[in-house]
Amino acid sequence: MEKVIIIRFGEIFLKGKNKKFFENLLEKNIKNALSIYDCFIEKSHNRFYATKYDTEIESNIIATLQKVFGIHSVSPAIKMPTDIEKVAGVIAPVLPQASTFRVTVKRADKTIAMTSTEIAGKIGGDILLLKPQMSVDLHNPDLTINVDIRENKTSYIFYENIKCYEGMPVGSSGKGMLLLSGGIDSPVAGFRMAKRGMQINAIHFHSYPFTSIQAKEKVIELGEIISNYCGHFPLFVVPFTAIQQAIHKYCREDFMITVMRMIMIEISEKIAISQNCGALITGESLGQVASQTLESITVTNSRVTSLPILRPLIDMDKTEIIKISKDIDTFETSILPYEDCCTIFLPKNPIIKPKLSVAQAEYNKIEGLQELIENAIKNVEIVKIKNK
Ligand code: ATP
Ligand code: MG
Repeated sequence: MEKVIIIRFGEIFLKGKNKKFFENLLEKNIKNALSIYDCFIEKSHNRFYATKYDTEIESNIIATLQKVFGIHSVSPAIKMPTDIEKVAGVIAPVLPQASTFRVTVKRADKTIAMTSTEIAGKIGGDILLLKPQMSVDLHNPDLTINVDIRENKTSYIFYENIKCYEGMPVGSSGKGMLLLSGGIDSPVAGFRMAKRGMQINAIHFHSYPFTSIQAKEKVIELGEIISNYCGHFPLFVVPFTAIQQAIHKYCREDFMITVMRMIMIEISEKIAISQNCGALITGESLGQVASQTLESITVTNSRVTSLPILRPLIDMDKTEIIKISKDIDTFETSILPYEDCCTIFLPKNPIIKPKLSVAQAEYNKIEGLQELIENAIKNVEIVKIKNK
């Protein structure tokens, strides 16, 4: 008898011929995530099992697995040699407080003469003898005790089914460059694309000394939190002060943010291409602020030459985004007060519906811009982000 954790796959089942590729990638991601623990991963019959761990760390292992995309659900289970007579004696002592239960049996081992229903009835009866205060409720039980009888003379018994995020294994959908600010939205955007299997790299524009060292540290911390979901990644920190000063010097006040976002996207695409990324990712949501109207988005889009800009939050309300950010643990860090570079040099009345031709004219006013961009890229600092 041994404690194990059953790990079920999600959507990767659907992938036909590529199934092997997805499974292997998921196995690699699970092993990476669990590398901090002393345990093994075994694979059999479309499932993984975490085995040979100290039961004291079981809840930590489960919490880590819940952040691995591609996993549908996990169940802590007891693994034992198949013996219907012994099931009740094994499970009854570890059941949590509950007044009603049912037993559900899955019998892959067809050498057993009894049907699944007969086995469930037998085990249910045995449990009632050991737990006379409990009663059976087949329709709405407090507890469902699952007995999974596999072909190889092994049974798994469990009563918990812990839902995970599902999604696709990170690395199965290419690589994206996330524009990571210190705000609430962009970490959520990174999380959502990682959930669809994207490997994440990130870029942050900072305007030291107009923005503080803490603002950069906050972004690093946000990176560390999302790396719990998407694995290690490089964060490209771009010195943006000289460019912001040039925008301030040459551009119409109401177009400053528009032009700043054009340049951010342009630099991001250049760095993304150098890192073999296939997309840019932002935390924009339609109409949330002046720079996120359809007209503003049209202007920013005009600065990319070959990569798509993915905006996974485009249709979401702020309250929905905040809900996810609380769920993934980035919220408390995002609301720390340090400013990101967008909030300095902020015009009082930014243009809400910028015309592309005017935006381009404002952009063209900046003397020596290409050199400033080259310099910013040359002086990028690369921070290796790891989960904590
Ligand atoms: P967020 O909460 O993600 O900061 P926001 O609501 O503050 O978003 P904006 O400031 O308009 O909106 O930024 C829109 C998007 O542009 C952000 O989601 C992010 O992807 C990107 N962005 C903004 N500022 C920066 C920055 N300093 N470095 C990198 N990306 C940034
Ligand atoms: Mg912001």
